Amino acid sequence: MAEHESLEYGKADFVLLDNVSMEEFMANLKLRFEKGRIYSYIGEVVVSVNPYRAMNIYGRDTIEQYKGRELYERPPHLFAIADAAYKAMKRRSKDTCIVISGESGAGKTEASKYIMQYIAAITNPNQRAEVERVKNMLLKSNCVLEAFGNAKTNRNDNSSRFGKYMDINFDFKGDPIGGHINNYLLEKSRVIFQQEGERSFHSFYQVDLADFKAVADAMKVIGFTGDEIQTVYKIVATILHLGNLTFGVDGDVTLIENSKLVSVIKDLLSTKEENVQKALLYRTVATGRDIIEKQHTEQEASYGRDALAKAMYERLFCWIVGRINDIIEVKNYNANVHGKNTVIGVLDIYGFEIFQNNSFEQFCINYCNEKLQQLFIQLVLKQEQEEYQREGIPWKHIDYFNNQIIVDLVEQQHKGIFSVLDEACMNVGKVTDEVFLQGLNGKLAKHAHYTSRKLSPTDKSLEFDRDFRIKHYAGDVVYSVVGFIDKNKDTLFQDFKRLLYNSSNPVLKGMWPEGKLSITEVTKRPLTAATLFKNSMISLVENLACKEPYYVRCIKPNDVKSPLLFEQERCRHQVEYLGLLENVRVRRAGFAYRQTYPRFLQRYKMISEFTWPNHDLASDKAAVKSLLQVCGFDHDVAYGKTKVFIRTPRTLFCLEEQRAEMV
Ligand code: ADP
Ligand code: MG
Repeated sequence: MAEHESLEYGKADFVLLDNVSMEEFMANLKLRFEKGRIYSYIGEVVVSVNPYRAMNIYGRDTIEQYKGRELYERPPHLFAIADAAYKAMKRRSKDTCIVISGESGAGKTEASKYIMQYIAAITNPNQRAEVERVKNMLLKSNCVLEAFGNAKTNRNDNSSRFGKYMDINFDFKGDPIGGHINNYLLEKSRVIFQQEGERSFHSFYQVDLADFKAVADAMKVIGFTGDEIQTVYKIVATILHLGNLTFGVDGDVTLIENSKLVSVIKDLLSTKEENVQKALLYRTVATGRDIIEKQHTEQEASYGRDALAKAMYERLFCWIVGRINDIIEVKNYNANVHGKNTVIGVLDIYGFEIFQNNSFEQFCINYCNEKLQQLFIQLVLKQEQEEYQREGIPWKHIDYFNNQIIVDLVEQQHKGIFSVLDEACMNVGKVTDEVFLQGLNGKLAKHAHYTSRKLSPTDKSLEFDRDFRIKHYAGDVVYSVVGFIDKNKDTLFQDFKRLLYNSSNPVLKGMWPEGKLSITEVTKRPLTAATLFKNSMISLVENLACKEPYYVRCIKPNDVKSPLLFEQERCRHQVEYLGLLENVRVRRAGFAYRQTYPRFLQRYKMISEFTWPNHDLASDKAAVKSLLQVCGFDHDVAYGKTKVFIRTPRTLFCLEEQRAEMV
């Protein structure tokens, strides 16, 4: 329980609700939102509701209030969780991570930025120049990533269209010395198509001088060279021009209608006009021993142009992330000399998506959320229960839905949806979305979480023959198979890769090393988009699982960006699919704080004459018992085999106060 908060603002920690019911949870969440209390806790999990207005709670004075404090000493805040993660890292040399989740527009990216700002503000008290430089680059990298990876959508004016995981490395003093960014699944289709009312990535509009300058300056500060920055914008310009390029036919010849654009593009790409033309209109194919140039149909040419635009942008984005990583990676650090290098990871990744029309992208994103939910279950729910069992503390089993079955449905070898999709893509005969759907129906007809129009013909929500439905932990989602095959194969003709590789601009050339191969040398099938995504998710989860996790659960109060409106149904749905009630139940059944007996004594032994300066009892456990009995807290604790468990944070707070009086 956070102190210094009156009940007029509701309960700061949902663990303290009188009854754990959806009604009470929602009433408390609403009350706090309306009172301007946008943060609450479930134990150590921060629940955040997007205020949609500037809050005066992130300034220097607030930072000072949270610095070095314990979680329960101050009202709930992102800074408290950031400080907890930082302290765990510094005191116990633990790698920690902060997982921020929630749907689009819920406030994840803002939260991740406040967390980074907080960490930047509390570190490097000695103002070491090298550390300041690293901090500045870490903060500046956000600005560049947002310019190229964010866009205005109907849900969020500054929506991240990629997932981001950022490690910050610290030296033994607890100062940042470097970092590393992983990016996930950029929504590259946005380059060629945007929904009504939406825009492409910010970078395409930053032609007005101020915005352009801010991003270019940030790149310069981070350490991009002038040539690199120029190439970046040449690529952006190329993609814009590609968007205006159209094809026509004359007899049986496919041609480019606005050939002046080709001349502009060849300059931007530092190549020859005829090379651009040829790559757009022909495809080199190997037939037996012969190599022939096969002319595209008008449709193929358009497909190729769009694939080129998407691939160039995706490659550009990954290259930018890679360059930032080169620059911010930890250098000259020898753990033997400098002590252990520890890490805080911050994950800002797309939340669950249920749209009118759900396609391959939503499928990947929702799979990602299943993986993260599974991790959450394992870490928070399961480990909690297991620890009580291990410690021999009576435990009432909490029922929760384990979503492993859905994770398996998607990623299992041979039977999983990704495998069926990859198989359909490798089909020698017909390769169509329908073949994929048939494969699913064949393999998953009996699966409790899968159905389709064919399997449930009377189901009204499955409107079309191409629909299938997954029962996700967060709710049912109907996906259309249209486009799955294409997006999964994600083909870019080798001719384009060769075109870019043969550019006389070394920066551009460097982005396309595989363009070196001629058509006869290209034998290996590239990994599919689904496989790449699956692999990146598995390694993300492995990476998070070996760190001490902290969670921020973001909630979007309404769809109209209003600071006043708390849409009950909308919020309830989010609380449901974030699993917050189950989280409260486990937390309440459990204990807010736990510590091994020796460490507990080390911190509090001065409170009691039985333990100060040393005790003569049979064990540390007995000593802790007598200490807590004397203080009158015996009723609020349980004694495990190696650890003492304290039920309410209030008790801990009192202990801290008594300790402060003594020291
Ligand atoms: P997400 O990353 O979850 O899609 P963002 O973090 O981009 O969402 O937040 C969307 C918008 O909501 C921001 O551009 C900002 O206007 C508003 N917002 C989010 N968090 C806050 C906050 N803590 N204070 C004020 N406004 C916020
Ligand atoms: Mg975001």
